[in-house]
Amino acid sequence: MTFHPKVVNLIKCPHCGNEKDFFEISDDVVTTTHYVQNPDGSFTIEERSSQALGEVKLFCGDCEEDLTSFHQRFSEMIF
Ligand SMILES: [Zn+2]
Repeated sequence: MTFHPKVVNLIKCPHCGNEKDFFEISDDVVTTTHYVQNPDGSFTIEERSSQALGEVKLFCGDCEEDLTSFHQRFSEMIF
């Protein structure tokens, strides 16, 4: 059974009130891509993962206000 809290504490942009659209910018991203070689010599992507080594910043999708102070909460709410 999944727990759904009734009162949701939404992240809201203090500048424009947007609580729907956000974007994240990551510095120094290392992307690892796993390939499987097929019998005909071609390659198929099996898995791709990326890891941010540098700073990760969160912005409002509407007014581009820096919301990095909310990032900790943001990252805990990505499912
Ligand atoms: Zn905003």
